[in-house]
Amino acid sequence: MRYSGAMCRLCRRAGKKLFLKGTRCDTDKCAVDKRETLPGMPPKRRPKRASGYAIHLREKQKAKQIYGISETQFRRYFELAAHKKGVTGEVLLQLLESRLDNVVYKLGFAMSRRAARQLVTHGHFLVNARKTNIPSYLLKPGDKITICDKSKKLIEDNLKSDLPVPDWLSLDRSTFEGVTKHLPKREEIQLDIKEELIVELYSK
Ligand code: SF4
Repeated sequence: MRYSGAMCRLCRRAGKKLFLKGTRCDTDKCAVDKRETLPGMPPKRRPKRASGYAIHLREKQKAKQIYGISETQFRRYFELAAHKKGVTGEVLLQLLESRLDNVVYKLGFAMSRRAARQLVTHGHFLVNARKTNIPSYLLKPGDKITICDKSKKLIEDNLKSDLPVPDWLSLDRSTFEGVTKHLPKREEIQLDIKEELIVELYSK
């Protein structure tokens, strides 16, 4: 099941910013900056040192929470990655990054992945000129993402944000057209995740 509780709690549990709330994450309202203790722990008590298994598990939880997906979905991505050519951990991240909701977020059409998922579900986007409302839709190199005519006004304000678009995507701000140039290489995925720990966890 997908987590539907407080987003900031997930960051505090992970002990670092997962950037789940759009612009708020860069302000001094961020809960990770304000409180150093784990959720549910008294302010003066120091967190226990994590065991090897807990470290592996935490890394997987972090990835799941960043992309906002369930355990079942995450496991399915892992199985898919394990059967593809290449380094499993890198392919796993590549699959997660190429989800339509993630690409909508990376193109700057939404302020967070969560907001992007909602926009996709509400049918505001086209992939290769076909209406697509499945957030987990996996984009391929050359795929074109556009906004439905009637939704352009709604998305326009977000587009004004000057977040840099990653090199593996391109965006024409005048036509609201994004293109997947290629699948991201590991160095193009700006995520603080140790994917090899996730692979080790699932391979045990
Ligand atoms: Fe995480 Fe953003 Fe909340 Fe900070 S503001 S704790 S980065 S979701």
